[in-house]
Amino acid sequence: MFVYCDNAATSPICKPALDAMTPWLTELYGNASGVYKMARDAKTALENARRTAAECLGVAPNTFYFTSGGTESDNWALKSAVEAAGETRRHIAISAGEHHAVLHTAESLKKKGHPLTVVPVDPYGLIHPKALLKALRPDTAIVSVIYAGNEIGTVQPIAELARAVKEKDKNILFHTDAVQAAGHIQTELTPDIDMASISAHKFGGPKGVGALYIKSGVKLPPLLHGGGHERGRRSTTENVAGAVGLAAALEHMTRNRDEFSRKVTALRERLIEGVLSAVPYSRLTGHRERRLPGHASFVFAAVEGELLVCRLDCKGVAASSGSACSTASLDPSHVLLAIGLSHEEAHGSLRLTVSHTNTEEEMDFVVQTIKTVVESCRQMSPLWNAKKGEPLNVY
Ligand SMILES: *Cc1c(COP(=O)(O)O)cnc(C)c1O
Repeated sequence: MFVYCDNAATSPICKPALDAMTPWLTELYGNASGVYKMARDAKTALENARRTAAECLGVAPNTFYFTSGGTESDNWALKSAVEAAGETRRHIAISAGEHHAVLHTAESLKKKGHPLTVVPVDPYGLIHPKALLKALRPDTAIVSVIYAGNEIGTVQPIAELARAVKEKDKNILFHTDAVQAAGHIQTELTPDIDMASISAHKFGGPKGVGALYIKSGVKLPPLLHGGGHERGRRSTTENVAGAVGLAAALEHMTRNRDEFSRKVTALRERLIEGVLSAVPYSRLTGHRERRLPGHASFVFAAVEGELLVCRLDCKGVAASSGSACSTASLDPSHVLLAIGLSHEEAHGSLRLTVSHTNTEEEMDFVVQTIKTVVESCRQMSPLWNAKKGEPLNVY
């Protein structure tokens, strides 16, 4: 048995996206900026993709800019916003629950002299409007808040947060990293939201393509200069197949969202209930209800998350510990520390993210496998009291 439970890291490409892309990767290879028919056809496909994708998000097509993915969209939003704001507004505020694409971008800007405030989250990973308002300064250029957390799955009251910021100071730009949210839940890009990042491979589209929504009227200088593609805002020969794949995947998710969401939520509940009752000294991280439909994240006392992931892999379960990006380092995840976990607790984290293609039988298999693997990891853990069958009191 092989059970893929790492859809928040990346998702398999869906059939509608692959089918829609194939002609643009094969016989229809024209450069969308050319003048002959093959090129004009590519341009038409690109603009149709833009219209479809924008419609799924409820925004106008001319506010939707294709990029190479979520990371680029986040970099563009933050770097260009501070560039546009100029000398009088240099401060940046981000939440403590951001993906590295926002966090590390903000930290690099801080090194260049932009003051940075990281807004705390509550124990469930929620950001409160009051905490956000407290972080604002007269010189704040941009606020960036993740729509739904990749590590703990918590969905923020994003419209409320954006409104609070704009009521305080309408000149602050508000960006949201909606990479985990888009396609999976209904995203509300209200007029208070100036920019939003999405990425195709998180919702059944191809890797290497994403988009940045830029509200009309927002002056955002380009990140990439060159031939003037994407209305002069993002140069590079258009990735027609990628754009077509993104749109087809987003449309597929949007059309079936109610059905997928119901199914995935039920699978997630089975997983959460199963794990919490089968494994002693386990806890759910993130919010119990306000979370992404397919997202289940846990911490297990006296277990090393990395070891857990390796052993699960041997038994046919693909999962992750914290976020894939922090896996290369041994530092515990900044998000888990931000919700108040100790270093020991944060080290025992496991994230399982399921999709509508998973089954109940798979969830039961995953629960049993986790139970077995956690038990065996604990037997060799210096933090586990095997005699008493409980963790040492460092927890
Ligand atoms: C995956 C992810 C990104 C990065 O997207 P890429 O397309 O892989 O660059 C950014 N933000 C969040 C919340 C993500 O989950």
